[in-house]
Amino acid sequence: MAECANRGQGEPSSGAKRLRKSPAKKSSRNSQFAKKTIALIYDFDGTLSPRPMQEYAFLPQVGIDATAFWEESNRVAKEQKADPLITYMHLLYKKAKEANVRIDREDLVAQGRDVVLFEGVLEWFDAIEDYVKIRAESHGISLRHYLVSSGLTEIVEGTPIFDRFHNVFASEYWFDAYDLPYPKRVITDTGKTQYLFRINKGIEDLGETINEHMEEDARPIPFSNMIYYGDGDTDVPSMAVTRKNGGHAIAVYPPGRPRKKCVDLFNSGRIDFFAPADYRRGSDLFHRTCLLIDRILASIRVEEEMWKVARSVKG
Ligand SMILES: [Mg+2]
Repeated sequence: MAECANRGQGEPSSGAKRLRKSPAKKSSRNSQFAKKTIALIYDFDGTLSPRPMQEYAFLPQVGIDATAFWEESNRVAKEQKADPLITYMHLLYKKAKEANVRIDREDLVAQGRDVVLFEGVLEWFDAIEDYVKIRAESHGISLRHYLVSSGLTEIVEGTPIFDRFHNVFASEYWFDAYDLPYPKRVITDTGKTQYLFRINKGIEDLGETINEHMEEDARPIPFSNMIYYGDGDTDVPSMAVTRKNGGHAIAVYPPGRPRKKCVDLFNSGRIDFFAPADYRRGSDLFHRTCLLIDRILASIRVEEEMWKVARSVKG
């Protein structure tokens, strides 16, 4: 838990988050077993927050009904055979321009303050870190939270949980490139999996290529140390990649609402667990997360012991 305890010491400011280089490419040569970082990776819309993040401030500011906006966006994407994410990013600003509303980067960040989070999300990060601290019997275990979202980086930046993430991978605009803001990065459903591999390989600087081969041994965060949280179909590629590589996945649904989507994901083997999106200590989600963390901690101890034995017989 050294990393959690040291939060904020010598870390880059939040704006530099996505530029953070990750440390451990040479783990196999270290004198310590290095694969002791646990990564909890979250989708945002529907997972940490009940509604798509654009619905809390952007659409109301521009005076558009959310249902009508998404219907139009999906219709245009279908008609044009365009990527739905690029289409929504384009349409947002087209609508703003039509309404004569100018929304720049700072405005988007400010909109983050209006985003509603599910109950317990604010306390969740400390609660899980406390749990890991209590249960970690192996020295040097650290916990990281990551966000991988098709939503907008700028809005996430304005939410009170932005600083809880080791890194935030989300779609983003270029504000000075063209008349209308232009997509700088678009994170589609399948594109999300790229960021899982970036976390796995420790290549979090988006300026660096992810495609070079890296031996399993050299990858700082094995998939088996990951739990992916999502809420539906858009998370299926990430859940599948995580679980097929030995990791874990949990789906959430809004408390008190139908859970059919989660049941389908569970029955089709996409997830280990599902639970209402209630992040308070003692909730089903908290309990099931702790069970998976117990399993991850146990397997880290086993792997560490095997690593020591392997070193001892090398001579
Ligand atoms: Mg979602």
